Amino acid sequence: MDMGTEMGDDGGTRDAGHGENDGQAAGARRAARRDTAVRAAVAQGLLGPCHPLVALLDVTGIRESAAELREAFAAVTPSGTPVLHAFAVKATPLVPVLRLLHTEGIGAEVASRGELALARAAGVPPGRTVLDSPAKTPAELREALALGIAVNADNPQELARIDALMADSLARSAGLRSPLGIRVNPQIGGGTIEALSTATATSKFGVALRDEGAWEWVVRAYLDRPWLTRLHTHTGSQGIALPLMARGVAESYALAEEINRRAGRQQVDTVDIGGGLPVDFTSDAAGPTYTQYARLLKETVPGLFDGRYGLVTEFGRSLLAKHGTTVARVEYAKSAGGRAVAVTHAGVQVATRTVYTPAAWPLRITAYDAEGRPKEGPAVMQDVAGPACFAGDLLAREIPLPLLEQDDYVAALDTGAYAFAHHYGYNSLPRPAVHGFTTHHVDHVDRTNRTGGTNRANGANGANGAGDEVAFALVRPAQTAEEIVAESGGAHADALLP
Ligand SMILES: *Cc1c(COP(=O)(O)O)cnc(C)c1O
Repeated sequence: MDMGTEMGDDGGTRDAGHGENDGQAAGARRAARRDTAVRAAVAQGLLGPCHPLVALLDVTGIRESAAELREAFAAVTPSGTPVLHAFAVKATPLVPVLRLLHTEGIGAEVASRGELALARAAGVPPGRTVLDSPAKTPAELREALALGIAVNADNPQELARIDALMADSLARSAGLRSPLGIRVNPQIGGGTIEALSTATATSKFGVALRDEGAWEWVVRAYLDRPWLTRLHTHTGSQGIALPLMARGVAESYALAEEINRRAGRQQVDTVDIGGGLPVDFTSDAAGPTYTQYARLLKETVPGLFDGRYGLVTEFGRSLLAKHGTTVARVEYAKSAGGRAVAVTHAGVQVATRTVYTPAAWPLRITAYDAEGRPKEGPAVMQDVAGPACFAGDLLAREIPLPLLEQDDYVAALDTGAYAFAHHYGYNSLPRPAVHGFTTHHVDHVDRTNRTGGTNRANGANGANGAGDEVAFALVRPAQTAEEIVAESGGAHADALLP
């Protein structure tokens, strides 16, 4: 489908700026596209009694977020400044998503052999890939250097391994293509979610800069190794306020400046500022925007944006979370102890963090009727439960929704990152299918003339015959029972017999 025409009449205004009103308008459009897609998914049978759980990705929204990211940093850097936006693959490890982002000018930040394989399968070139991880094996490091992928060493032991690989490649006079750096932890403190705060005093990541002698050790490490040209920091994910993130970047900038001063040249030519822009899970607004963050960074650390430094960013959640929706059928609607409970097919297997730590990861839930239309009716306090066999498997507790009935649907919103793509195999529940969708507004749908193509259907129809066409594309098929057996040792059934 022609993505260029798809925003219809308001498409021309959306790039005019990203102020608060624009953000609200974009959020409203995103919500409208979501409703249209849910309706069409039911109409087309992607969702139904035999497919009680599905994940949907809003392709238009992903493209908009990628464009906002590019524009936000282009606006605060002199033209010609090299800026690599590397999507944190862990947020949504799906090959078609990585390929879509690649076509939008976004590279990949990987932290394991699996993630590297996904980025390569998506066609992300080594020069647009960055490898970070706290536990890289010698084989991983060798592979990354052979491919020319950028590597950030986490600690002195890893740097020693890189030293050995460098000596080896120098001996073979193989040229160095990988940009190399060290990850530092500015130890500026944590945010509201401890498990995701990487810049606390005792964080497991990077070289702890405020520890005795560490700053000087890092400076010497660079002076001794002219091939170290990058510096990396990532202050955390979700729950970190923007000013704290900016302080983390300011600390690494100060360190880069000191290294360069003492080296007498611009040895550190690129600062990797990590990701971590938080997402607003309470409304359709996106939360702080890339534009706000980029402006704050430029105010806080102007020297980093004066053209002397290239930049790498590693955003994950903020690029994808808002564009994913998990939709589940209500299998049964019951009542227990006076509480209405909707038993659905979305639970711990697709919203693991929410189920295990609900206070840190609340999700918005919306209700749809059996046809996939937004459900109307007075709000009733109810629990939305998942299919897993433990009592805590609840997507939401005591939330006000129109009373859910059997065969209705619920949608867990903002689940495009760190949720359905992070399947948890509890109860051997299958990974759900993921479909990307695009919507296209049509003024008059000529129903007699539609060819009944397999992947197009009418979404919500207006009274006047106008409506939204929805095109779905399969991103990942649902896991089959055969695959579950195979991945659970099915080929080794006799392995434990005498
Ligand atoms: C997880 C992670 C990111 C992405 O964080 P988001 O909160 O998803 O933006 C970026 N860089 C590193 C090193 C990470 O570990």
